[in-house]
Amino acid sequence: MKIAIVGVGAMGSRFALMLHKSGNDLVLIDGWQPNVQAIRQQGLQADFNGKAVTANIPVYSLEEVDQLQGYQPELIIAFTKSYQLDSAFAKIKALITPQTYVLCLLNGMGHESILKKYVDDNHLLLGITMWTAGLAGPGHATLFGNGNVELKNFGSEGKDFALKVVDVFNDAGLCPKYIDDPKYAIWRKACVNGTLNTLCSILDCNIGELGQTQEAADFLKTIIAEFAAVAAQEGVNLDQAEVYQHVDETFHGDIADHYPSMYQDLLKNHRKTEIDFINGAVWQKGKEYGVATPYCTLITQLIHAKEELLGV
Ligand code: NAD
Repeated sequence: MKIAIVGVGAMGSRFALMLHKSGNDLVLIDGWQPNVQAIRQQGLQADFNGKAVTANIPVYSLEEVDQLQGYQPELIIAFTKSYQLDSAFAKIKALITPQTYVLCLLNGMGHESILKKYVDDNHLLLGITMWTAGLAGPGHATLFGNGNVELKNFGSEGKDFALKVVDVFNDAGLCPKYIDDPKYAIWRKACVNGTLNTLCSILDCNIGELGQTQEAADFLKTIIAEFAAVAAQEGVNLDQAEVYQHVDETFHGDIADHYPSMYQDLLKNHRKTEIDFINGAVWQKGKEYGVATPYCTLITQLIHAKEELLGV
């Protein structure tokens, strides 16, 4: 399949390497100039489950997209950060024809409202991924462990293409699944990010340390209840007990000593966070629906205050 990946950071690199290896015709597009230069000069590199891999894939900056005239990808996969999505798609919109499909697997909520500006509902695919990925530096990813992808066409049409993507991802070893309810999966995953990522970042601790605090259970249940109250307004009935159990399991599992991505973005790399698309989205949606979300509001404000203090 002809695939353009827009946003070639940690996760974009994972998908690029796996889809390239299984024989797809890829083009990479990224907005971080040192990353574009590194990939162009040395190839896209990764520590892939302990093995050094390099792939030579054409790469363009967002400013160079006009050089791609005539490429016409069948699928564009978005892997920017949430807050970069709109500006990135504004720059690559010339690549989107009525035949192009766009797949969004970003964490957080509300991405469909952004992407609807650039692609028809029936050509939009939404979902989540449980793969993980890190970036050691420009052009160099660290890729460990296993994961999966869950996706579905957003509009009523587009199922045939979504199933084609499932086949292509399957060949790449990305463990995809066509699901009936991507909105549920997106809200459920946002609950994980809206509890673990945020609280570890505010408390400066890893997942296991958070779980050891006496307050964790109360915090988690209250935050999940706020997500559920707002999700219900959108017709998504989150199973709060199951979501709580899912988050609680991480306190004792393989990732207990892991610092979540928001922690790494904010406290380690002093980068902006995706908070406005997670707890911030619950706060804003709650305002629209008349649902009080005091914990999500405070968490969003605290993360923004930390961004300000760190000058990001
Ligand atoms: P990322 O920050 O690694 O990359 C996103 C974009 O930021 C890329 O264009 C990249 O080139 C750029 N970038 C990276 N480091 C930069 C720096 N230091 N300065 C300037 N620009 C930089 O993000 P990601 O981890 O690939 O995540 C993409 C999306 O996938 C997000 O919505 C994220 O929440 C989601 N996601 C990530 C993971 C994961 O394990 N990484 C897991 C599930 C979902």
